[in-house]
Amino acid sequence: MEHYQDIREAVAKLCDRFPGEYWRALDRDMTYPREFVEALTEAGWLSILIPEEYGGSGLPLSAAAAVLEEIQRAGCNGGACHAQMYTMGTLLRHGSEAQKLRYLPRIATGELRLQAFGVTEPTSGTDTGALKTTARLEGDQFVVKGQKIWTSRAEHSDLMLLLARTTPLTDGMKKTDGLSVLIVDMGQALGNGLTIRPIRTMMNHATTEVFFDDLRVPAENLIGEEGKGFRYILSGMNAERILIASECVGDAKWFIEKAAGYARERHVFGRAIGQNQGIQFPIARAYANMRAAELMVREALTLYEAGRNPGAEANMAKMLAADASNEAANVCIQTHGGFGFAEEYDVERKFRETRLYQVAPISTNLILSFLSEHVLGLPRSY
Ligand SMILES: Cc1cc2nc3c(=O)[nH]c(=O)nc-3n(C[C@H](O)[C@H](O)[C@H](O)COP(=O)(O)OP(=O)(O)OC[C@H]3O[C@@H](n4cnc5c(N)ncnc54)[C@H](O)[C@@H]3O)c2cc1C
Repeated sequence: MEHYQDIREAVAKLCDRFPGEYWRALDRDMTYPREFVEALTEAGWLSILIPEEYGGSGLPLSAAAAVLEEIQRAGCNGGACHAQMYTMGTLLRHGSEAQKLRYLPRIATGELRLQAFGVTEPTSGTDTGALKTTARLEGDQFVVKGQKIWTSRAEHSDLMLLLARTTPLTDGMKKTDGLSVLIVDMGQALGNGLTIRPIRTMMNHATTEVFFDDLRVPAENLIGEEGKGFRYILSGMNAERILIASECVGDAKWFIEKAAGYARERHVFGRAIGQNQGIQFPIARAYANMRAAELMVREALTLYEAGRNPGAEANMAKMLAADASNEAANVCIQTHGGFGFAEEYDVERKFRETRLYQVAPISTNLILSFLSEHVLGLPRSY
């Protein structure tokens, strides 16, 4: 598999312009990294998965994985814009030609941002089929009513992909049927039935809750067929999991490099703390676990790019990489002693940021349930 060294170097160079001070200042005020996202957009990194005929670079998923890994490895945070890369996949695979021509070229230039993805709801959580937001067809418009939670970047996106129920759930119906995907024009919707409320979280993630109060969405904004939305969303999950896993590998590398660097330089009792096996071994173990996770990411990418459906590998890659970054984050704090808690070292910030991936976009338990049921043939537990 290609390593994309040229892409990695170019992304690392761009990230040099956004050092720890930049992220710390944003973190303090919970502000969106606008300049960073603009720089990535202008350089064309966020549109590399968009096919060339729609104005993107048409590169494979492994190139996008390289971009996101390098962003995290440089200490930056791709969480501000990573969805821009994979959310458009639903439109690309299931949208009409007219929809693709209408949106993709402008997403590729950065004129339009499609990085809000409204799936999770407060009462249904992981049980997506139980979501309550409805979209009722009235003439040539859908009337949307309900609420989403954790809709990240909603305030920094021009378009939102929304999953809503268009066919009421009746007895005997599969609960993941009857859901549809709509493209919501945020500019038109805001103040006309759409309200966005930011949620303060332990890290700077620009996440929100959104409320739909008879929001009107043109019927032509329906993606694909009515009632098949859950399948469309599912079809993008492998790419999403693999890209998030790449970010976690990047985070783990940042933590390991930072921890090893500090362990070499910090002297206590007249010698480098890294001379103690109690300090070396946890870093070495974190390194080994990161490398193993990286191999699973590559395996998932290889299968994905061969046109296979690597559901198990994509999920395992995400879980193992999130575990590796979480472990490396913990080791990095421990290696730094008290300084691990000081803002100016960036360790505590990255520690908070990487913790998210144990829970989102899918929590570890649900990955284990997937493997139990679909790989090991065990009874479904829920
Ligand atoms: C910062 C942030 C950003 C996010 N961004 C987005 C976004 O942009 N768009 C979007 O749609 N969503 C987003 N999410 C939502 C995210 O995908 C969910 O939080 C996640 O899928 C878990 O759902 P939940 O929070 O409702 O937890 P719940 O479903 O309530 O689960 C709570 C806990 O119970 C466990 N659990 C639940 N059911 C089972 C079971 N059957 N077996 C074993 N354990 C179980 C879970 O693993 C979890 O640990 C975001 C979340 C966060 C925190």
